[in-house]
Amino acid sequence: MPDAYPELNDTQRVIRDTARKIVDRELKPHVEKLEHEEEPPYACIKNLARGLGMAGDGEFTEAMREASPEDHLEFFVPAAVAIEISRVCAGVLVSYGVSYGQVAGTIRRHGTPAQQERWVPGLMSGDVVGGWGLTEPGAGSDAFGSMRTTARVDGDAYVLNGQKTFITNAPYADVFVIYAKLEENGSRNIQPFLVERERPGLDVSKPFRKMGTHASPTGAVYLDQVRIPRENLLGGGVRERDHVKGRLADERAGMPTLSLGLADRAFELALRYSKEREQFGQPICNFQLIQRRLARMYGLLCNMRNFVFADFLAGRKVRMGMADICAGKLYCCEAATQITMEAIHVLGGNGYMEEYEVERLARDAKLMELGGGTTEIQELTIARHLVGG
Ligand SMILES: Cc1cc2nc3c(=O)[nH]c(=O)nc-3n(C[C@H](O)[C@H](O)[C@H](O)COP(=O)(O)OP(=O)(O)OC[C@H]3O[C@@H](n4cnc5c(N)ncnc54)[C@H](O)[C@@H]3O)c2cc1C
Repeated sequence: MPDAYPELNDTQRVIRDTARKIVDRELKPHVEKLEHEEEPPYACIKNLARGLGMAGDGEFTEAMREASPEDHLEFFVPAAVAIEISRVCAGVLVSYGVSYGQVAGTIRRHGTPAQQERWVPGLMSGDVVGGWGLTEPGAGSDAFGSMRTTARVDGDAYVLNGQKTFITNAPYADVFVIYAKLEENGSRNIQPFLVERERPGLDVSKPFRKMGTHASPTGAVYLDQVRIPRENLLGGGVRERDHVKGRLADERAGMPTLSLGLADRAFELALRYSKEREQFGQPICNFQLIQRRLARMYGLLCNMRNFVFADFLAGRKVRMGMADICAGKLYCCEAATQITMEAIHVLGGNGYMEEYEVERLARDAKLMELGGGTTEIQELTIARHLVGG
């Protein structure tokens, strides 16, 4: 059976199988409840983090001990973990990715030693939930130019005012990275601030009702005269463009992997169904018009896989530039929507029914074309790289 991975060696196969086993045990039994929003995903995320060894030793870590540098596990492990979670429930990966990747990742890369010590272990183990607040009601694609949230200096504190929206984990997060325009010495530049949930003046909305990724709570953050100490300025002051570019690059680089996981699952379900379902006295996979759909889906999947594993296969350590990252996000996220929609079609009426899973995969896939910069923003960024301006 073709799948989301290139040819793997024994160590990599053990790691993929272990990741799959942990995800099947810790996540699969809860998907129904998570998708119907009967419980938030954080207990599951904590169990996943423990099993996958994100916060130290675990059964997953055990599988890595035998590895050699040629196994490129520094790349392979996060990719395999993301693919395996996304195959089962992409919403959980969105919430996990924001807390672990965006928030812990930002603090690890840019935070002071004290900030790292305070927040990173809890975010990594899943004990602490993080939210990453850039988008505002009037500032989406133009997140910098139109930002209205401000921070002003008041004695030994900053005072934040504004509103953030569409923030993953907002209804339950313990800590936020909030981007605000810092007004200091007559100038304004955008800086990230660490804001704890319990700060007076900070409020959050209920989870928004939305099309997909139901397992990932999304909401608004309201900041009304929120006072935070000066040491909550992330990293003690970073250069705005470099910093956010780095975060966006990480987010955009992660989304193809997430898209690959759910597209892989959709393809697997469609192929299997086409072999089992009979019409006109034979399996529908015998019909060439169905075969064409399967062949096109497979072509898209192969290209997604080639992008996601390009650095891994080439043994490259240097990460891609922004234009290539955007090209990968553009292609993979659109391809995942196409594959999941095709999967619905191959399953016919059953594809439209909740219990057959593919309609959820299609709803979840669409988010990847919007979050982390829409299709158009990827296109504009690539074009700027090609023709300047
Ligand atoms: C479920 C979910 C979770 C999210 N999680 C987070 C999060 O954790 N943190 C966070 O900060 N944000 C988050 N976002 C926000 C997300 O990053 C934004 O929705 C996205 O950047 C687009 O902004 P917008 O929704 O305001 O759309 P808009 O910017 O209003 O765009 C509307 C349309 O206009 C197009 N458009 C805009 N500008 C141009 C242009 N110059 N040329 C051509 N077309 C253009 C867009 O491509 C789009 O099709 C999340 C969003 C969703 C839906």
